This record gives sequence, structure tokens and C-alpha cells, in this order.
Amino acid sequence: MIKNISVIGAGTMGNGIAHVFAQNGFAVTLIDINQAPLEKALATIEKNLERQVSKELLTADQKNNALKNISTNTDLNMGIKNAELVIEAATENTELKLKIFKQIDEAAPKGCILATNTSSISITKIAAITSRPEMVIGMHFMNPVPVMKLVEVINGYATAKEVTDTILSLCKQLGKVPATVNDYPGFIANRILMPMINEAIYSLYESVAGVEEIDTVMKLGMAHPMGPLQLADFIGLDTCLSILNVLHNGFGNPKYAPCPLLVNMVTAGKLGVKSGEGFYTYSASNKELVVSNRFK
Ligand code: NAD
Repeated sequence: MIKNISVIGAGTMGNGIAHVFAQNGFAVTLIDINQAPLEKALATIEKNLERQVSKELLTADQKNNALKNISTNTDLNMGIKNAELVIEAATENTELKLKIFKQIDEAAPKGCILATNTSSISITKIAAITSRPEMVIGMHFMNPVPVMKLVEVINGYATAKEVTDTILSLCKQLGKVPATVNDYPGFIANRILMPMINEAIYSLYESVAGVEEIDTVMKLGMAHPMGPLQLADFIGLDTCLSILNVLHNGFGNPKYAPCPLLVNMVTAGKLGVKSGEGFYTYSASNKELVVSNRFK
């Protein structure tokens, strides 16, 4: 029975993953390169737990117990020394992840399972850098982690069946719904989502319709809670571009080629919510969705 989890990377996803494990009684060590992201993550987790208390989804005691279950560390080797499962949720960069996995493999206990939350990097490639490829697996949580039910569980080429079974039952213990997929570019979530987003951007680029019209068709016509252009802004246009490049390079099929408008927007630093502008503009003072001047 897994009880000790170490999460590497305390950003958007890492703090959410730590939150759900701690809330479900696991001992979590959250690791990052310095103290600042760890403090920010703890503050975010506390705020999000408090929101659950105010919605009467958790009691104040459950919130306090969850916070007590989390410790932090800036030393990776120390932070994983008792781990039974390590979940890597560091920045999406292949070289960085390979370096981290080499280090985790050397420092983690022998039977420890090594998981990655990568959105697009090959699990098989990450596993191949370790001495235990059969113990390496993808656990692709969705953002925001405490809210979203799905975990895409990705089997690398060498992942052992017992490891997959352990991770599937762990997801259920967290109240999540796992879906098992094999390791090919984009897995399932992004293989289907990103071409849809790219097609929406192509429709705008070719002046088939405006930003609001494209999003309205998909929201009201297909019952999507968010239109594809708004969703792209939320995910980050740089992230969308990088995943499309993974699909394009991985399959060698021109149908995945990123739309030139997406490439231009990323080059110009228009990355969506995180930069304040993408297909829409974002400001702390205005919560309304306003189409960017460029597309009016
Ligand atoms: P983020 O930029 O918010 O956080 C990344 C964190 O990793 C930062 O705090 C950074 O300091 C830390 N980090 C970098 N190098 C490190 C190292 N060597 N050791 C320890 N920590 C290190 O990124 P994110 O959005 O949380 O994404 C993390 C992973 O989750 C990525 O692989 C991404 O593709 C994946 N993912 C993201 C989303 C999303 O919507 N943001 C959804 C699903 C999966």
C-alpha cells in the first residue's frame, strides 16, 4: 500500500497533485528548486482547501489534516528518500525531465514507482534513461487538479502491468477516474484536443468566422463548456504550439502542422491568460471576456 508520495515541481500542476493526495490522507513531500515556489504552492493549496470548506465539501479539520500531510524540500535526493511513488510535474522540457529522471532513478528507493505528469513527452523515452523502465508510467492529471476527475494513465513501452494496476487503484483512491492509454504522441487527450484547437485557429486565420463566433458554435453547438480559442488561451498558446510540434514531429503527418497564426502569436509573446492577451484580453480588473483588438 503506497502511503508516501513525492511530487517534483510545485507549479500549477504540482500544487494541485500535492493537494489531492494530502486531502486523501497520503504523506506528501513537495519539491522545487528553491523556497519561493514552495511557499507560493502552500499558500495556493491552503486557499483552495479553504474554498472547499466554504462550499461545505470539506470540514475545517479535514483541511488542517490535509495541510499537516504536506512537507516541502528543496533537495531532490532528500525529498524522495522515503518515497513509494514519485510524481514529476516540473516544467515541460525534455532535457530537464531526462535529467530529473536520471537523478530520481539513482536516489529513489528500489521499489519506488516513477511517474510523470508530462502533457506530451514520450514516457518510453523518459523510462529509457532510467535503470527501471518497467516502473515508469505517465499520470496525466488535468488542470485544475482538485476539480478535474480524469487522470490519463499512460503505459510506456516497458511499463509493467502490476505498476499500471497499482496506479489505477491509486487514482480511484483519490476519487479520480483513470483512463489507460498507450504511449504515442499526444496520448489521447492532446491528440484529439490540439487538432481541434488548431482547426479553430485556422478558421480564424482564413477569416471563416470571428473569435466569438467560433467559440459560440463549439459552446452552444457541441455543449463544450469553453470554446476552443478561449481554452487555448487558458492552456497557454506556447504550450499548444509545443504540443502540436510534438504531434507533427512524432507522426510526420502535415495534418498536425501548427497554424501560422498560432506561431506568430507565440513569437509576439501573446500567450493567452498568462501574458494578458491571446484571442481575448485578460485583466484583474475586468472579469468579462473581451476579444483582443487584433481580432475585432
Ligand atoms: P509550472 O511552470 O507551473 O511549474 C513547474 C515547476 O517546476 C516550477 O515551480 C519550477 O520551479 C519547477 N521546476 C523546474 N525545474 C525543476 C527541478 N529541476 N526540480 C524541481 N522543480 C523544478 O508548470 P505546470 O503547468 O505545473 O506543468 C508541469 C507539468 O505538468 C508539465 O510537464 C506540463 O506539461 C504538465 N501539465 C500541465 C497542465 C497545465 O494545464 N498547466 C496540464 C496537464 C499537464
